[in-house]
Amino acid sequence: MTRPARVIIDLDALRHNLSRVRHYAPNSKIMAIVKADAYGHGIARVAGALAHADAFGVACLEEARQLRAAGIRKRILLLEGPYTAEEMDDIRHFHLDMVVHHRFQVDLLENADSNAPVHVWLKVDSGMHRLGFAPSEVGNVRERLRQLGGVAAGIRFITHLACANEQDNAMTRQQADIFFDVTRPYQAEKSLANSAALLARREYCLDWVRPGLMLYGVSPIDGQTAAGFGLEPVMSLESALISVKHLKRGDPVGYGASWRCPEDMPVGVVAAGYGDGYPRHAKTGTPILVKGKPCVLIGNPSMDMMTVDLRACPEARIGDHVLLWGRRLPVEATALHADTVPYELLCGVHKRLEFVEHGRQN
Ligand SMILES: *Cc1c(COP(=O)(O)O)cnc(C)c1O
Repeated sequence: MTRPARVIIDLDALRHNLSRVRHYAPNSKIMAIVKADAYGHGIARVAGALAHADAFGVACLEEARQLRAAGIRKRILLLEGPYTAEEMDDIRHFHLDMVVHHRFQVDLLENADSNAPVHVWLKVDSGMHRLGFAPSEVGNVRERLRQLGGVAAGIRFITHLACANEQDNAMTRQQADIFFDVTRPYQAEKSLANSAALLARREYCLDWVRPGLMLYGVSPIDGQTAAGFGLEPVMSLESALISVKHLKRGDPVGYGASWRCPEDMPVGVVAAGYGDGYPRHAKTGTPILVKGKPCVLIGNPSMDMMTVDLRACPEARIGDHVLLWGRRLPVEATALHADTVPYELLCGVHKRLEFVEHGRQN
């Protein structure tokens, strides 16, 4: 492939970030969250590199199947459980754990042909009001599940937090208290914390922690940097300049002629755009590194290209390296300038791009 836009995946950084999870949650088992193709990094390569994780969490059967096909033998949890009755056979066949968040899934277990027991994680809605049983229902549902031959002993509890990304958030404390209260009577494994929660408080690190974003080297807490937590970015999105021009004061740049040169200046064209997963809504001023120098996006990114103000790097030439996000340019900054979250940018990188792995094997 000759197009210079590509994604670098640093597997050493990934393994390092897993060791940071162990540091913050030394007494917990780690379920590495690899949904959405491991947040865009490639589910098989990520799971392969995370040999020291205790389990993997995925959104759907298709992702679990990919992991099994890649030779992953560890515990895999379907975070949303089955969507339909047809999935129950595969859940057993591939030895998957499943979340049960709704009565229709209890019915699926009850009506399943096979009685080969499935490991179930009972989802408690502690206040986010997305998936899960209300605290008042949890005892009854657990009892019903316990009586089913198709459910393995040792039903676990799981819940998810709505505001863990905000420091010292009252709702997070409230959700945690609700979860602790509901699950206190039961001798069972419990899981509360995503990345943000496991970094925020040791008490949130229960039997299992479920880090996603931090594994990929991105800060999960607003206003705090990944470096501050000792995390290293795993993905770099890079490309090169394919044009450099000297434009005149007042010249418009790009679609919509939405940006005009405030003075005579050098402008570069980068071979990457929203067709690669770079956000169309990134604003003028979004940071971009050209030959390692801090420059900024100007105008609207187009499908395969975007324009960059080269006044901070006037020596730039065609072919020079451009970093759109990665090790020296946190994706958090790009996300802020595009009114989105790093999650969306990472999992949105397009599969048309060449993916290059760096890092030793295990
Ligand atoms: C995605 C997800 C996580 C991981 O969240 P991060 O913020 O990326 O750490 C944990 N638990 C559940 C249920 C999830 O869906």
